Amino acid sequence: MTTTAASVLDTVFGYDSFRGEQAQIIDQVVSGGDAVVLMPTGGGKSLCYQIPALVRPGTGIVVSPLIALMQDQVDALANLGVRAAFLNSTLAPEDAQAVERALLDGELDLLYLAPERLTQQRTLDLLARADLALFAIDEAHCVSQWGHDFRPDYMRLSVLHERFPAVPRIALTATATPETHREITQRLALDGARHFVSSFDRPNIQYRIVEKNQARAQLISFIRAEHPHDAGIVYCLSRKSVEQTAEALRAQGFDALAYHAGLTEAEREERQSRFLREDGVVMVATIAFGMGIDKPDVRFVAHVDLPKSVEGYYQETGRAGRDGQPSTAWMAYGLGDVVQLRRMIDQSDGAEAYKRSQRAHLDAMLALCETLDCRRVQILAYFGQESGPCGNCDNCLEPPTGWDATVEVQKLLSTIIRLERERDQRFGAGQVISVLRGQDNERSRQSDHASLSVWGIGAELSEAEWRGVLRQVMARGLVAPVGEYGVLAVPEAAGPVLRGEERVTLRRTSARAGRAARTKA
Ligand code: ADP
Ligand code: ZN
Repeated sequence: MTTTAASVLDTVFGYDSFRGEQAQIIDQVVSGGDAVVLMPTGGGKSLCYQIPALVRPGTGIVVSPLIALMQDQVDALANLGVRAAFLNSTLAPEDAQAVERALLDGELDLLYLAPERLTQQRTLDLLARADLALFAIDEAHCVSQWGHDFRPDYMRLSVLHERFPAVPRIALTATATPETHREITQRLALDGARHFVSSFDRPNIQYRIVEKNQARAQLISFIRAEHPHDAGIVYCLSRKSVEQTAEALRAQGFDALAYHAGLTEAEREERQSRFLREDGVVMVATIAFGMGIDKPDVRFVAHVDLPKSVEGYYQETGRAGRDGQPSTAWMAYGLGDVVQLRRMIDQSDGAEAYKRSQRAHLDAMLALCETLDCRRVQILAYFGQESGPCGNCDNCLEPPTGWDATVEVQKLLSTIIRLERERDQRFGAGQVISVLRGQDNERSRQSDHASLSVWGIGAELSEAEWRGVLRQVMARGLVAPVGEYGVLAVPEAAGPVLRGEERVTLRRTSARAGRAARTKA
């Protein structure tokens, strides 16, 4: 390690030692090489390009999609005595001109740019006249077309290599599937780069996934029991659910704010800064919130709706506990989530390949929800990293038991098939379960369901238990929702189970396990 880098760490940033692979990464860039850095949220990626930008002559150019955070980042650096500025669409023309002049006069250590700005011909010409220390490409997973944060402008960033072959580049992300890693390397033309892949484990975060019955009530009792005065983030799928959840939390006395793309820029900024600066604020948000937010003491991240991918889930939960203190990632998940997300994918108008990739992402997320094994082992395996049972997730703390549900699943599948064959009707979860349990209602009387051979063959399980079975079976793709109303059908893939060639082990209802894990935590 160069003594300069170590002294910058101390004199500018006030830290006494590097973390993880920071020192090696900084060395690589300071000496003019390229780097690809995969490091979890909170791992300390910023210093990996900020220090080389200070050590090398010229200005470090930081490409970031997070326009809303640039002012904060620049202010924070200015407080440390670092000469930083940004160029984006929020700047008045005369201010942008002043920044451009400062760049050309060699008065900037760091310049933040949005990708759409950087790839403009005008900006590239400007940079060609400046002395450049490096390019840092932050949130580099945004180049991934199949990923959850795709930004078309990131695809054009290979132009940096073409126009500025002598300037070192460092690409950074907290998303680490081998697939995304490959895409970053390829699309940004980082063939000669050194790769730094940190452990993605966040041992201080406890992962828990509970069965959803009354999401809001469950959320409130979770927060009240474990984090009554803490800062936290609650993720919801829709704006409406964000508003309603924030309202419900406020009604219970929590300092909760709503955040989504339907608010004005000013409202979003004001709420974000309250969350960052005040203690104990709960931000209820869509995934529009959080990228780049650096608040060290977020004690919990809760999901009341199922995320669309493990990458998304892990990035969102990773916003908890950046300070290393014990924190909770809590999620409530139920049958409705599976139906809704599967349907959203089916009805989206993307290309078939895109839908296939979305389905694969969702399947991995569902497998994580339904696993009987350590959640952390499963998450890390998804990112290509091996580990042992963690002792700090719900499944480790209160191991769930599996049961052989082959016969029950066969009953369920047969019921769906009979309804379709003999009555030419498809139904949603509620009616299928009523038929299984032999429960009369308006619709079963109309269509004389009681005369079907499957009527009442599943009376041994309660309605809640059947919902649990159905959810898990749908998570595995043995039952699929079809059409606009999400009525149920049995796909080909269920053949082996129906014929008794394949057995099905399901997770016992986890309501009790969830409670036990909470009292231990
Ligand atoms: P990331 O971008 O990887 O999510 P950051 O760069 O925002 O992470 O760093 C997370 C936190 O850790 C910040 O508060 C940062 O100041 C702190 N940090 C980073 N490196 C060090 C270090 N070597 N020593 C102490 N604190 C550090
Ligand atoms: Zn575990």
